[in-house]
Amino acid sequence: MTAPSIVWFRDDLRLADNPALRAAIDRDEPIIALYVFDEESDGIRPLGGAAKWWLHGSLASLGERLAERGGALVLRRGPAGRVIRDVAKESGAGAVFWNRRYGGAERAIDADLKDGLRADGLTVESFAGSLLFEPWTVTTGAGTPYAVFTPFWRACQAMPAPRAPLPEPREVPAPGRTPKSDDLDDWELLPTKPDWAAGLRETWEPGEPAARARLRDFLAEDLGSYDDSRDEPSTGSTSRLSPRLRWGEISPYQVWHETAEARGTGAKAASAGRFLSEIGWREFAAHTLFHFPDLATKNLRSEFDAFPWPRLKPTQLEAWQKGKTGIPLVDAGMRELWHTGIMHNRIRMVTASFLIKNLLIDWRRGEEWFWDTLVDADGASNPFNWQWVAGSGADAAPYFRVFNPELQAKKFDPRALYIRQWAPEYSSGEATEDAIVELGETRKRALAAYEEMRRTP
Ligand code: FAD
Repeated sequence: MTAPSIVWFRDDLRLADNPALRAAIDRDEPIIALYVFDEESDGIRPLGGAAKWWLHGSLASLGERLAERGGALVLRRGPAGRVIRDVAKESGAGAVFWNRRYGGAERAIDADLKDGLRADGLTVESFAGSLLFEPWTVTTGAGTPYAVFTPFWRACQAMPAPRAPLPEPREVPAPGRTPKSDDLDDWELLPTKPDWAAGLRETWEPGEPAARARLRDFLAEDLGSYDDSRDEPSTGSTSRLSPRLRWGEISPYQVWHETAEARGTGAKAASAGRFLSEIGWREFAAHTLFHFPDLATKNLRSEFDAFPWPRLKPTQLEAWQKGKTGIPLVDAGMRELWHTGIMHNRIRMVTASFLIKNLLIDWRRGEEWFWDTLVDADGASNPFNWQWVAGSGADAAPYFRVFNPELQAKKFDPRALYIRQWAPEYSSGEATEDAIVELGETRKRALAAYEEMRRTP
């Protein structure tokens, strides 16, 4: 009798550089590749619409790749703790392997499950697959988490170098009897009525092969100019790897080592350092979530709890969501987001600042919209960056730094190429006469609100 090993796939929808899968292969028993769609466990944040769309495509691709290697992907739905134990019992599994997650609710589920399965006599092991540095290993001299990026990243770089990526397995043998699986279509992850995903389909091909190709192409074609043009949204010179990293179609270890190999000298080397430091921001956001599990709902700096948010004006929120504010750069960004499920980083900062400061709408409302519409919506990076813009977060932009979308357009989209691509009715970055707010006045109002917060004892 063989006792199969379960590999529980989560945010690591790939075969290459997958330590949990590798551990199962090394055990030399048949493998049950399992994905659990869990919207029921306490504290698990339900996925947004764009994220569900991506998940469908990425699971379909993973299933095909497993089948090509003699394996099968088993899909189950329900609270993960219960489902994994059910599958383990049904299949007589001897071991369960997974790669770690870092959110509070996720860690609680994993810890419980580990105890329960071990008590039942199974081998259970978890691995580092989604972050280069484990959050509990990077602390200040006083043992506290870093609150500022530069010393954080310096400390990371002083650690032993991230391990080399693991090779992709040639075979993933399934057991004689595979546990029954849901049909992916029955999860209804794709929108139907209405089908709003045409722009997503046009823009993306989820799955590990496309992720690997994108990293290769980016390093060959765009890395050299990354440092110079990464802030210009019309150049398309950033990697667009964020959804790939979010879903784990590629690992940060692969990114790290392939970038190191491609870095060369001169401008390209400077660009490579800059690019890796952006991967560092991803680590910083994840480490911050590990230490502050309520990152999506609570101000990291509690003095911001006294911020005097006025009563929400739903029409203003809606104008922002739909890209109808009359501020060209903001509207272009919000429409890019709606159409493609992604938005350039510079424009994310501008649109977020406009919502929080010019419209005086609580950063949480913006975070929720991005959560629903981004294909890279990430439980750490999304709230982390919203709090960064709001001034309430780790190493955040000071509150009084209110981005001026007209000046930002002049500087980063001087020929209005980006603006005209997404909002063709505008020919420049200047606000229209019927813009929903006046930039100068609302800036003053934001600063006054900030002063009021500072005076609150
Ligand atoms: P590149 O410039 O090629 O960077 C390479 C990788 O580094 C990215 O793929 C990403 O994984 C990481 N990275 C870069 N910048 C950041 C950053 N500021 N914080 C964390 N990681 C970073 N990123 C997400 O992955 N998911 C989110 O939900 C998310 N929400 C955001 C919300 C706001 C308000 C803002 C201002 C930023 C947000 N970001 C988020 C960060 C950043 O905008 C995206 O990671 C980046 O635009 C993705 O494009 P790219 O892959 O071409 O980036």
